[in-house]
Amino acid sequence: MPQTQTKLSARLKAYIRETGPLPVSEYMSLCLLDPKDGFYPTRDPLGSEGDFITAPEISQMFGEVLGLWVIQSWMDMGRPKRFTLAELGPGRGIMMADMLRSIALDADCMRAVRVYLIEASAALEAVQGQSLAQAAAPVTWVKSITDLADDPTLIIGNEFLDCLPIRQAVQMDPFAGKDGWQERLIGLNDTGQFRFQLNTAPLSPTLQAMLPSGHEDARKDELIELCPSVFQIMEQIKPLFTAHPGRALFIDYGPDSTEFGDSLQALKRHKKIGVFDLPGESDLTARVDFSACRHAARSIDLTASEIITQAEFLSKLGIEMRAVTLTRHKPDAKPKVLRQLHRLMDHDEMGQLFKALCISASGMAAPLGFRS
Ligand code: SAH
Repeated sequence: MPQTQTKLSARLKAYIRETGPLPVSEYMSLCLLDPKDGFYPTRDPLGSEGDFITAPEISQMFGEVLGLWVIQSWMDMGRPKRFTLAELGPGRGIMMADMLRSIALDADCMRAVRVYLIEASAALEAVQGQSLAQAAAPVTWVKSITDLADDPTLIIGNEFLDCLPIRQAVQMDPFAGKDGWQERLIGLNDTGQFRFQLNTAPLSPTLQAMLPSGHEDARKDELIELCPSVFQIMEQIKPLFTAHPGRALFIDYGPDSTEFGDSLQALKRHKKIGVFDLPGESDLTARVDFSACRHAARSIDLTASEIITQAEFLSKLGIEMRAVTLTRHKPDAKPKVLRQLHRLMDHDEMGQLFKALCISASGMAAPLGFRS
């Protein structure tokens, strides 16, 4: 597919002509979140009719077993009378609705929960409002983690980290160590098309400090991705988890150790296209570097779990048993439930590629699903 003119591309090009080439992160945030012409604010991209599908959209079982994780975590926090359950990037609000159905199994936990949703897209916020209209818990939308109540807090983000803006750098001179890394920017070629180009100056000291461990092994021309927002999120979580018990659970696609190479990808109607083909009209994501997330958490003394596969995590939460119960109640639905289970769990589907990582306040027990 060639680069196609979109409402956003004309503005992006004018912006680049005016201010110079952009870091990949800036291109990514404008494409995804520009309030007027960005991907998320202008549509509901989820589901089989949309551009991509996520685990909670595949099956109610996903949110249901996560609801059990919430109950156990609330117990681990000492059964507080009031606690925050915050979701980052709640999509259509389906996972939260499914989680609340399970949380209702424990009346005390249900009475204690206060739901907070952190969503950048007004369009999706409206859909979340509909999905949660009957919720038996108070639901509040806030802009950021820093706006959450000063209470014990559980945070969950499914396929949230993969849409955080990344920066990219290329190792041009391995003998120069950190100074050999140069940022890969997005500029324009002679015919006004988007193109990648290198910043000739070395990476700034702030970005150099974010290089994940393993960057020392890079050979010439190897590319690495950095996600400054992950560091920011950990900084925002820190004061909450210092004042109270708390956990943050992240589920997303990505390897368990840093990998080199460009992973920025665009999806349109479930198909991969070029990242410059349809700016603002295609989804842009990058694989999550879980070991870098873990490092970001540990560098400020938060406790980070092992990185485990989605299959292992969901299995420990009892998803197979949930599938059996569902099919016992509705035998006709058995083929459908098994198909959903297969998509979430199989190694050649989401089971292996997707990982789970839990960040905790210090002193808390190992979280359910991560206990050996
Ligand atoms: N968690 C949902 C949706 C995943 S899609 C699911 O699993 O189905 C990513 C979600 O994150 C969308 O709701 C998108 O609008 C939101 N989002 C993306 N960047 C964000 C940001 N910086 N802050 C808050 N929400 C964001």
